[in-house]
Amino acid sequence: MRRLLLWMARNGWLRDHIPRLWFARRAVRRFMPGEDPESALQAATRFKAEGIASEFTRLGENVTTGEEGEAVVEHYLGLLDDIRQRALDGEVSVKLTQLGYDLDVDRTLAHTRRLAERAAEAGRTLWIDMEGSAYAEGTIAFYERLKATNPNTGLCLQSYLHRTAADIQRLLPLSPEIRLVKGAYAEPASIAYQTRHDVDTNYVALAVALLDAQHAGHKVRLGLGTHDVRLIEQIAEHATALGLPKTSFEVQMLFGIRMDQQRRFAGEGYLVRDLIAYGEAWYPWYMRRLAERPANVLFALRQILG
Ligand SMILES: Cc1cc2nc3c(=O)[nH]c(=O)nc-3n(C[C@H](O)[C@H](O)[C@H](O)COP(=O)(O)OP(=O)(O)OC[C@H]3O[C@@H](n4cnc5c(N)ncnc54)[C@H](O)[C@@H]3O)c2cc1C
Repeated sequence: MRRLLLWMARNGWLRDHIPRLWFARRAVRRFMPGEDPESALQAATRFKAEGIASEFTRLGENVTTGEEGEAVVEHYLGLLDDIRQRALDGEVSVKLTQLGYDLDVDRTLAHTRRLAERAAEAGRTLWIDMEGSAYAEGTIAFYERLKATNPNTGLCLQSYLHRTAADIQRLLPLSPEIRLVKGAYAEPASIAYQTRHDVDTNYVALAVALLDAQHAGHKVRLGLGTHDVRLIEQIAEHATALGLPKTSFEVQMLFGIRMDQQRRFAGEGYLVRDLIAYGEAWYPWYMRRLAERPANVLFALRQILG
């Protein structure tokens, strides 16, 4: 089921046709407050009242013209201004391929620097998502260049990839901000762990390595981008055993998923950030959410029928 849904996520015909169906638009509502940025900003304002910070991402990937990349930059510059005007603890997360990485890496770097500078004016971090493994080395090398000029930048790393332990050691001297996730794409066994047990074990080992580095004096910001409460609690226990404060890591979850746990962690004094996605290009992203938990397919069907 996971592989089928991930294949559907990459299929161009389905990407063009499914979002036109009213019932699909209705089902996606569970994972995003709306397609427009205003819905996302309003959701963030509600979260703020509950002590939950926000992270914004406009859905879309692999643009095919330079102009599309420019338009995405202009959009995010406006959003960063809105976040600041509304005094939200809001950060932005971008996909490099949405800024034109496939067309021109240096131009994408210039775009990303502009966004990071605007985020810095409000004292915020600009995050870079990690996409499929074909982009892993390029994205990490890109982050090294970006981080050298723009310290307020963070990168997502995936625990299903064998390479990530070495990537963390490579990035530690840069005082990185790292969002650790399990990984959302279909990757082969030659480069990625395939079983949930192996991906989870590596997730904990990587988070522990980052907390140990913090304890040893490295400046590292750690975001736990997972809904796996069992793992978060294991990692929190390790932080406590090291004598690190609750603020030594941040829990980052997606809008609409495990909201009860997001509120519980915030209530217990942990830093919690809810990633709010919005935009019209939600199809591949939504299919990856279904693939993560096939029970969501039943949920979607119930919404369509009901
Ligand atoms: C803030 C954030 C940013 C992310 N950024 C990236 C990125 O840049 N690149 C990337 O490859 N991946 C990214 N991801 C996705 C990530 O890789 C996983 O695919 C996703 O988080 C599901 O894995 P999990 O860690 O929640 O664990 P899982 O083992 O999948 O789930 C643990 C438990 O959480 C609940 N759960 C998980 N997913 C869902 C869901 N969709 N619906 C309902 N319940 C669910 C279930 O109860 C499940 O048992 C991001 C995730 C988050 C939270």
